[in-house]
Amino acid sequence: MSFAELGLAPPLLRAVTEQGYTEPTPIQAQAIPPILKRLDIMGCAQTGTGKTASFTLPLLHLLAPLATSSPSPAKHPVRALVLTPTRELAAQVEESVRTYGKYIPLRTALLYGGVDIKPQIKTMQTGVEIVVATPGRLIDHLEQRSISLGQVQILVLDEADRMLDMGFMPAITRILAALPPMRQNLLFSATFSDDIKKLAQGFMRNPTMIEVARRNAPTELVTHQVYEVDQLHKHALLRHIVRSRDIQQALVFTRMKRDAEKLARQLVRDGLSATAIHGDRSQSERTEALDQFKRGEVKLLVATDVAARGIDIDQLPFVINYEIPNTPEDYVHRIGRTGRAGSLGEAISLVSPDERDYLQAIEKLLKRPIDRLPLPLLDGARPASTENRERPSRDRAVLALTEEERRERNAQRMVREAKASGSTRRERDVPATASAPPPASTSPYPHFDFSKPYEPSPTAASTPTVVESLFADKQLPPGKAQPRSVGALLGRKKAS
Ligand code: AMP
Repeated sequence: MSFAELGLAPPLLRAVTEQGYTEPTPIQAQAIPPILKRLDIMGCAQTGTGKTASFTLPLLHLLAPLATSSPSPAKHPVRALVLTPTRELAAQVEESVRTYGKYIPLRTALLYGGVDIKPQIKTMQTGVEIVVATPGRLIDHLEQRSISLGQVQILVLDEADRMLDMGFMPAITRILAALPPMRQNLLFSATFSDDIKKLAQGFMRNPTMIEVARRNAPTELVTHQVYEVDQLHKHALLRHIVRSRDIQQALVFTRMKRDAEKLARQLVRDGLSATAIHGDRSQSERTEALDQFKRGEVKLLVATDVAARGIDIDQLPFVINYEIPNTPEDYVHRIGRTGRAGSLGEAISLVSPDERDYLQAIEKLLKRPIDRLPLPLLDGARPASTENRERPSRDRAVLALTEEERRERNAQRMVREAKASGSTRRERDVPATASAPPPASTSPYPHFDFSKPYEPSPTAASTPTVVESLFADKQLPPGKAQPRSVGALLGRKKAS
């Protein structure tokens, strides 16, 4: 199928061609036709599937006839509102709107918090048709009456699950109340929890359900691996993984903001280029950190779940969970940063004993166990790399030994000490691992060319198309297939 067959307007076809897209991704192929028919839809799609274009392209198509070159602000009312949970995602969506809409004279505004509101107010005064906003800042604009939503025709909630996780429900309720009742609603979410279904039932009209992957299924292009290691040795293990696998770039996750900051500082002290992105950093610092990472100037971007939301980095081969998330859905979101748009990726998790329950929950969601990798025995010698400014440490030598290895080491040490009896040399001066060979790369794709062009994921492409009504109890327009409930869609038995 081509984009032209989806019925998109020529200026949009031109823009997608310029992007190098040759065919729609599965979510685009399924979502664009019903959106063009002005139906409400609920799309279950992870980031990396092309979901942004799946709503921005038809949105632009529907609004294109209303585009005008009139300078009068009154001729440019807000006609579409896209809500996203984070500033980063808002910025990326707005960039997509600009990219795909470059040949259509519609005006776009980006409204998020953490920056001065005045320039945003000025932009709104000139008249803007498409607004991409985070809920909190949009409420600020509503309170200051710098925005009117009375003519909105299309509402998009992007990453709705995350908006609920972040406590935006009250803000969303207020925003919904400011919108005209007759409008088209599009909701996208990586996971469909009961809360999401409840939210959807509250404001959507008989939405069509679109799903391109199994429920909560992380892309199968990602290899999942676990190191079981105690918390104390995670830092040294991470350093080792980065060096031994020659990782050029990775997104590293911690659960807490302060840990992200601390880890980034430690990595810098190790001589690795690293920076952190989390909610305590100003918007300009976050943008700068992300840009540095995207430009390849920074090797390791340490992030919290919230801050990483919506980060769009093509061809990021590694995601490292320095701490695994305490909700399995966050794992799905995290690994959504790798294995994007058809490339392969690896998700490496460092799991300490106190995180085992979280790991179990993740494995339950994935419906399979994750491979455990043996802990590496580290070379005590200083690597030749100029990047490494650190002195060989005892910490490195004892890193992450299993009980068995520790016992063996002790036995070897006792033999050495017995042989060297009489020597005054202290055990601490003996490079305990000096004889261990440097560990070989365990990457299954050491020579993989991640710069290859996008190819549709075989998984996604072969996933059966599911376009069905969400609410079985509501009447469908004549000629539509008999709906199934969400429960049925997700493989559960229908409640009697
Ligand atoms: P998203 O899921 O919206 O975050 O998109 C993931 C990436 O896929 C983005 O970098 C898009 O530029 C890219 N993309 C979107 N649609 C297509 C397509 N039809 N063909 C190739 N790449 C695409």
